[in-house]
Formats: sequence, structure tokens, C-alpha cells
Amino acid sequence: MLARLFRLHGLLVASHPWEVIVGTLALTVCLMSMSNLATSSQMCTWNECPKVEEKTQNSDIIILTITRCMAIVYIYFQFKNLRQLGSKYILGITGLFTVFSSFVFSTVVIHFFGKELTGLNEALPFFLLLIDLSKACALAKFALSSNSQEEVRENISKGMSILGPTFTLDALVECLVIGIGTMSGVPQLEIMCCFGCMSVLANYVVFMTFFPACVSLVLELSRESREGRPVWQLSHFARVLAEEEDNKPNPVTQRVKIIMSLGLALVHAHTRLAAENPGHNRTIEGPIAKRLESEGNTWPLKLSSVEQVITLSLALLLAVKYVFFEQTETESSLSLKSPIITSPPNQKPWGVEDCCRRDHPAQKPQKTTSVSSANNMTTSSASDSKASPESKTLTKDKEVTATPEVTTENRSFYVGDSVSPTPSVPVSDSSSECRTIEECMSILLDPQRGARFLSNAEVVKLVTLGTIPSYKLETVLDNPEKGVSIRREMLSHKLPESSALVHLPYKDYDYSKVLGTCCENVIGYMPVPVGVAGPLLLDGKQFHVPMATTEGCLVASTNRGCRAIFLSGGCSSRILADGMSRGPVVRLPSACRAAEVKIWLETPEGFGVIKGVFDNTSRFARLEKLLTSIAGRNLYIRLQAQTGDAMGMNMISKGTEQALHRLQQLFPDMELLSVSGNFCTDKKSAAINWILGRGKTAVCEATISGKVVNELLKSTTAALVELNINKNLVGSAMAGSIGGFNAQAANIVAAVYIACGQDPAQTVGSSNCITQMEHTGPDGKDLYISCTMPSIELGTVGGGTNLPPQQACLQMLGVQGSSPEQPGENARQLARVVCATVLAGELSLLAALASGHLVKSHMTHNRSKTNVCESTP
Ligand code: NAP
Repeated sequence: MLARLFRLHGLLVASHPWEVIVGTLALTVCLMSMSNLATSSQMCTWNECPKVEEKTQNSDIIILTITRCMAIVYIYFQFKNLRQLGSKYILGITGLFTVFSSFVFSTVVIHFFGKELTGLNEALPFFLLLIDLSKACALAKFALSSNSQEEVRENISKGMSILGPTFTLDALVECLVIGIGTMSGVPQLEIMCCFGCMSVLANYVVFMTFFPACVSLVLELSRESREGRPVWQLSHFARVLAEEEDNKPNPVTQRVKIIMSLGLALVHAHTRLAAENPGHNRTIEGPIAKRLESEGNTWPLKLSSVEQVITLSLALLLAVKYVFFEQTETESSLSLKSPIITSPPNQKPWGVEDCCRRDHPAQKPQKTTSVSSANNMTTSSASDSKASPESKTLTKDKEVTATPEVTTENRSFYVGDSVSPTPSVPVSDSSSECRTIEECMSILLDPQRGARFLSNAEVVKLVTLGTIPSYKLETVLDNPEKGVSIRREMLSHKLPESSALVHLPYKDYDYSKVLGTCCENVIGYMPVPVGVAGPLLLDGKQFHVPMATTEGCLVASTNRGCRAIFLSGGCSSRILADGMSRGPVVRLPSACRAAEVKIWLETPEGFGVIKGVFDNTSRFARLEKLLTSIAGRNLYIRLQAQTGDAMGMNMISKGTEQALHRLQQLFPDMELLSVSGNFCTDKKSAAINWILGRGKTAVCEATISGKVVNELLKSTTAALVELNINKNLVGSAMAGSIGGFNAQAANIVAAVYIACGQDPAQTVGSSNCITQMEHTGPDGKDLYISCTMPSIELGTVGGGTNLPPQQACLQMLGVQGSSPEQPGENARQLARVVCATVLAGELSLLAALASGHLVKSHMTHNRSKTNVCESTP
């Protein structure tokens, strides 16, 4: 409710920035013009307040000096932290916020206390300590994570709904806490606390009104970049919304604050009421007050001037460090100059012909030269002295070794980078400026910085030059999403339609699980609809089967089959064999020699030697069988092994390779032609898998009551049995099918495989299935159905099963990962589920075919509603 209120407020402010800004300014001007009124009704006039400067003691001066110095250092660090974000917008916006809120605050103060501000310089440090730019910065980040002006408003309101309640509560608590000081009876402390309260209030009002309006306006006025995305946008801000939960305040802290503010409000109420009591006479009390009354001496005066010198020097020192030295430290790492860093006077915009939108004037004459000539020229330019020697000699071939490794130390250089699953914070963006090639090179080769400090445009430039290989973008940038986005950007220019990739998503994906395991040259990910069929009552347990498909009717049909099984008491399954295979081919000098090797392998000794080597390569892979076959002098060896919960192709390939090396030692005249000789057989239709099995061999059966066949499947047992014989058995025999004695096993296998992270190409062998149907029951009206699948190739660890969405689907079936009881049990259970789901699909499809419903239901549920002729240009 409260969050909604703040959200609406945020939306209102962000949608009407002009009105809010003008309104706030008008209000401030009104406050200024109300000076006469204010002074007449002020709580105490500044003139009435004790002048304490002359009476201040040494300890007070020391305390004040320390406070001032702390305030200066605090502000310095706040700005330093902001700069780390690498956006001039953040710096500008928060700077604006600070300046304006201070302006509002001082206006209020002036008119509450009259025009004499003699003591304000003493109070100022305390107010500086009250300024917290982090919230302003957080709200700005919400806005900067937007892709369009509409999103800016939406995100500001979202940010407001999250930050507004916290900030309101914080402001309340701060006011109440500082307000305690206004009851101290110490005049100077009272005034300072009074200032403090007003400072907090002014900050709050500005944050809630003027600030979001300004953010919205500034971003609206910023022009779109050439790449079609807002110039303010930094890739790492895109995660701000995703991390919405992290931005939410801790409810426990919130509750403590609420209770605390209630308590403090009570204290205030009690004290104010007591103060209104006519008998109460406020006097100046307390140690500081007493000191104020004590005689002044000349010591503090001297000290006070020393104090002013110290404070001033510190402020100057930090300002100089920030403006001059940190500029040179960070300018090459930031593609955007901070608004408080003055640009070198000779800088002018670049020509648009370059790959970046703006360039340094020093390069202006080069703007029409090709990228490679630009490279040659820049290596000999005057500023070359800055470039490292390696950068001058770096060639395309040398690049891989020259590309700096992103080390843990580098990573810890960035805020929050080390723990994030998607490493964040390249402190530059692709916004407005591009550095020279040699500058980019020196950043790239600098182990402290690396490619993460380059803007997108600069990275594109280096990829075009071949300095960064496109396939290594994710690793070199240490930010997979940025790497993917740059690859897309580069690719889109080469496509017939440059907007072709717009609808291929790539954001908010955990690429760390993909890289080096599942896919290369990534340009996004393919969302496929996932449906659920079930409950599938299998071996007394219920399963809800995830199916990823774009074929309408498939999930509905399978679901109907599951229902028929469920109503008939479920189905039962068994695993008959479990063994993945790899079939290398080796060549011997002669067929006779090949026969000798074959005979040796078939002896217990031969098998033992090979098994010993093979089993040593994995904790789970265990060699079970060797099958050999000869074609001339070629020897084919089919190694079959249990592979635990993994599908096992990588595991078994590794073991096979080692086993072959051993064999070669024993038979030095043996030549290894290939670790895979298609005798496995993987991802190709082959009778060997159909006959001998591969992966899991499963069988599943069910008896469907005649009533269910009639009422749910809208068919008869006789019709189904008849159809199964003529279609699945005779029809497939006529077609010369191998393992295709079924209606649609591949449909179910493919859908479950895609959902559960299996290798979809293994649908080829895994769909081998024979479906059998018979009359059963006392009157022969019931239907007995079985599916036998000899080569289900799947796993629950390794490959695509490591990806979180795929893991979610495996978790739906309770088989994700390694089986805790017995390695291999999860994979075997998944194979049973696949076989049973195939059975459900067979039942339903055959029934639909028997009753002539297939075409009708596909026309209703699977026909494209889009008029293809109209949409085709
Ligand atoms: P893998 O991820 O390469 O290997 C499985 C890993 O998981 C092994 O390191 C294994 O340990 C470990 N593991 C942990 N717990 C396990 C358990 N309970 N059971 C089994 N292993 C466990 O997976 P893979 O199944 O061998 O290979 C699958 C990938 O191979 C897929 O991406 C697939 O697309 C691809 N593939 C490769 C080929 C090929 O020719 N190489 C062919 C087709 C498909 P150990 O190290 O102790 O074994």
C-alpha cells in the first residue's frame, strides 16, 4: 500500500518534471521573500543566540576541527565512490541534488534565523555529515537502467516505491534523534540540532520532488545514441532492476526504526509539553553552556585561526587531488568525463565517420582512414610514448597471449564484482567518446585494468582489428553479458536485416554456466514454451512431466494419455540395461593382424587390461562390455560402460582414448583412425543401438480399462490394437524402419529432452521404440500396451543439465543432479519417466488416429493463426 503510494508519487514527479522543478524553485523563492514574516515568528533569532566564538575553549575548537575534517573527507569519499560508477550522469545528477538541497537548506536557515549567519560555519560540518548521496545515487541508477523515456518514468516510480518508504523513515528517525539535541538546554547545540533537522528535511523534500524530476528531465533531454540506445545507459545498470530484491530494506531494521521513532516521538511530546508549563524556566545549563559563560581568553582565538587553516588546507588538498590527480588516474579508464573534471581545452568532437561517435581532435585528420591504417598511424603518433612496447608490436597472431588474463586481484578492484555470479562493473560504457588505438591497447594490456575498462565501441574497434578474438569476448571482458551484446552488435550489421536480433533475448542470463561447457559465440538464448503433462502415475509415484515444444496439441495429447493411465491404475516400468557406448576404429597392417587383436580383446586378460585403464579415468564410468567387429584390416571396438548419472559421452570418450593408448603400446603396429568409428552409434540411426541397446534400455507397460478407452480416448480396444499392428508394426516394416515401430516417440523424447537439458541430437537413437497393443481382461475389452525403448541416451548431470532452467525441469521430476543413494539412479529414473511418457503419447495419438480426430485437433490447436501471405513482404 505504502509502496504503491510512493510509486504513484514517483510516477507523477517523473512524468511532470517541469511542473515539479518550477514548483520547487517557486517555493524556495517564496521562502526567501518571506524573510520578514519568518524573522517575526522565528523560534529564536540568530542575534539572540549566544555568540560563542570568542568564548569557545580549546577542546571545543579541537572537536570542531576534527568534525570539519571528517566532514570534508566524508564528502570526498562519497564523490570518489560515485566516480567509480563511471557515469557522468550519476555524478552530475547527484551533484545537482547536493547543490540544490544545500541551497534549499541554507535558504530555509537564513529565513528562520534572520540574516546574520555568524555561527553557521561551525554548524556546517555537521550538516555535511548528514548528506548521504547513496540514496540519490540508487534512484539515479534505477533511471539509468532504462532503455527509453517511458522506462525512465517507470523505473523512477519503481525506485521511488522501494527507496521512498526507507528514506521517509530514515528522515523521520534522523529528525527525531537530532531533535533530542534541541531540548538539551545548550544554546549552541540546540541551534546546531535545529539546523540538522532542517537539513534532513530539506534533503528529504528535494529527494522526493526536485531530484526525481531533474533525473527524468536530464535523461529526456539527452539525445539517443547512434546505436539506438540511450547515451546514459551503462550495461551494468541493467542489473539494478534484477537486483530489486537487494535494494529492498531489511524488514527487521525497518521495524526497529519504526519502534525507535515512536519512542522518540513520545520523548519529544513529553518534553515539549513540559516546556510549555509556565513554571518551567529554561536556563543555559550543561558543561558546554557553562564553558560558554566562562571567561574567554586569547588561546582559543589563536587556535581557531590554526583550525581554519587546517580545515581549509585539507579541503583544498582533497579538491586538488580529486580534480587533477584522480583525473589522470582514471581518465583512460572512463570513456565519460566527470562533469567536475575539466576537459583539456583542445578537445573537440570527433567526426561521426569513426566507429565511435566522438573522437579526439588529434585524430580528426585520421577519421576517414581505414581501421588498420588508423592503427599504424596511432602507433607512431606523438602520444605513443604512453603506449606499452607490447602494444606496438602486437599482431593478430600474437593477440591470444597478449590479452591480459583477468585475475582475482583485478576483479577485487571493482565494487561488488568478486561475488556476483555475473561479474559486473566495467567502469566505462560505450557512450560518447572513443580513445585512440594505442590508449585502448595500453588499457587492454594493463593487468590492473584490462578490456573491462574499454567502452563497447572501443572493444568493437579492437575486435575488428583482430586484437580481441570475437569468440573470447566474454572471457576478455570478464563480463559475459557485455561480450554477448558486443558480438550481437557486430553481427547485426552483417545480417540481411540489421534488426534481426532484436527479438532474440540475451539479457539476464547466467552465461557463466554456458561458457566453456554448452555453447560458443553466444548471441543470446532461445526461449521455448514449456508445457506440463501429468500427473503421470508411474510405479506408484506421480510425475508432472515438463515438455518444451512449439507443436500445438503435443502436450495436450500426452496429457490425455497420462490421464488414461492414471484412471486405469498407472503404469509400471523397468530398466533392462544401462551402458553408454563409444566405438573407435583402428587399423592394423592386415586383416589377420586385426583378427589377432580382436581375439586378444575378447580374452579375459585383454578385457581386464582395457577395463583397468578405462575405469581409472572417472569415478563413475565403469567398462562393462567390449564388442569387436572387423571390416578388412579395420577393427571396430564398441566399448560399453555405465556412466553414473551422466549421459556419459564425454566420460566414455575420455576413457576410450586412454584405453586405446594402452592398446597401441601392446600392439605398436596398430593405427588409431578415430576415437569414434560410428560403431557407437551416436546421433545416427543404427541397428546396433536398436539391437544391443545404448544408454538406458527401458520397458513400460499399462492396462487401460475398456471404459477409459471408450470414454476418454473415444475409441475401442479393437480399433487401437488393429491400428497398432497395421501402422506401427507392418507400416514401419514396409518402410524398412530401424527402431521406428511407434507412432510418435520422438515427439515426446524431444520435448522432454529440450526441457530437461539433454542433448537434443540424441533424440535420434533415444526415440527407438516398439509399441505393442493387445486385448486383455476377462472379456478382452481392456487394452494392454507396452513401449520398449532400447537406447535412451540421457543423464541428470553434465552438459545442458547444468543450466538453471533445465535444472528446474529436472527438479520437477525429482531427478536433478547426482543421485545421493546410488550414482545412476536419477538418470535411470528419468529414463523410466521418458518411456512412460512415450507410452502416454502413443495411447493418445493412436486413439486420435483411430477415431479420425488427429487432423481436426491439429487444425484447431496447431494451425498458425498468422496469415503467412500477409506477413511475408
Ligand atoms: P560431462 O559433464 O562431460 O561429465 C560428467 C562429469 O560429472 C564428470 O566429471 C563426472 O565425474 C561428474 N559427475 C559427478 N557426479 C556424477 C554422477 N553421479 N554420475 C556421473 N558423473 C558424475 O558429461 P557427459 O555426460 O560425459 O557428457 C555430456 C556432454 O557431452 C553433453 O554436453 C553432450 O552434448 C556432449 N556430447 C559429447 C560427445 C562426445 O563425443 N564427446 C558426443 C555427444 C554428446 P568424473 O570426472 O569422475 O567422471
